[in-house]
Amino acid sequence: MQHSTRLALAGRDTDTAFNSIAPPIYQTAVFRFDDVGSDKGYDYTRSGNPTRSALEESLAALEGGADAVALSSGMAAIATALHVLDAGAHIICSHDCYGGTERLLTHLASQAKIDVDYVDLRDSAALRAALRPETKALWVETPSNPLLRVVDLGYLADLAQEQGLLLIVDNTFLSPLLQKPLQYGADIVVHSTTKYLNGHSDVIGGALVAATDELAEKIRFLANAYGTGAAPFDCWLVLRGMKTLPLRMRRHEANALAVARFLEDHPAVERVLYPGLASHDDHELACRQQEGFGGILSFTVTGDQAAAEHVLRTVRVFNLAVSVGGVESLIEHPATMSHASMRPEQRLLAGISDNLIRLSVGIEDIEDLIADLRHALASLPQALNEVIEDVSVWEL
Ligand SMILES: *Cc1c(COP(=O)(O)O)cnc(C)c1O
Repeated sequence: MQHSTRLALAGRDTDTAFNSIAPPIYQTAVFRFDDVGSDKGYDYTRSGNPTRSALEESLAALEGGADAVALSSGMAAIATALHVLDAGAHIICSHDCYGGTERLLTHLASQAKIDVDYVDLRDSAALRAALRPETKALWVETPSNPLLRVVDLGYLADLAQEQGLLLIVDNTFLSPLLQKPLQYGADIVVHSTTKYLNGHSDVIGGALVAATDELAEKIRFLANAYGTGAAPFDCWLVLRGMKTLPLRMRRHEANALAVARFLEDHPAVERVLYPGLASHDDHELACRQQEGFGGILSFTVTGDQAAAEHVLRTVRVFNLAVSVGGVESLIEHPATMSHASMRPEQRLLAGISDNLIRLSVGIEDIEDLIADLRHALASLPQALNEVIEDVSVWEL
């Protein structure tokens, strides 16, 4: 069955009492036992809930995993995945990962609970040099945040297998529709369902999808032990959001590509980072590895932080906000917003400059999005109050 069909039907069979088309929200903490030692599969919502199960089944099917566990946030998913590893494990992580991931890993390392090295995972020599006997996992984000670098999942999976490492991939930026890390040999897929999976900016949620039942069982044990499972109503909203994921992703991508092309031709823009552009360093790999390029892109404006700030203040359709993956377009400044939690030296290492802007392109009309950016960029030179060398080349 194709994804769009599977998603349209998702959760349909949850209500066997009345056959409701929409899955019920089992807003209950407790389930009665039929008899001593016999229940209907659920006893307490921290341990399991039918609305959560309906979401988990859909997520596992979409990613092609053995099982999925829905958690209360993307960070809860990340924290739960880290607890699969034994204390003292060494992790090699993407050097330009999600700011919250870097914050948590660095915190755990400061308590000597784990050890972590941040590496540009496209650099195989640097990656191999970082390997140690205690290395237990590779933590990967591709495309990365906010620089949209793409790393070769097949290569990493081979290395992980050769070295006996867990390969954990945060697939939030593309969603399972556009990339399936488990197909390449990943062991665990991480999602912030807050982003594309829910898609409507009204839930904080997360999920882990495991390649094997054994890993899924460990994760389910931890989710119950730590109490990180997702609430029934949140699961219901994510499942409802997912039904339109195929439609939304197509529109996000078409809009992002059009915006990227517009920015690439604009004289007030230095660089556009979008894997769908032929000019992107990792374009070929993205074409091979991904089933689409997604809706997130970054660009640097000509000038310094003040220039970036001017664009952020001038747009009207784009919303000045962190996060990605909702139906509405968002614009933000990684250095002071999404990646402010990253240590400055780590930001520098990752290449996040002060004139960098990240866009999460929504599903609005493309004409309005481009007009908004055109207007913001057009007023840039005056706002900067700088002498622009050759104003005549600026087609503003
Ligand atoms: C947002 C995000 C997270 C964290 O998810 P929350 O739901 O905000 O806790 C993790 N990874 C990536 C790539 C994200 O974009």
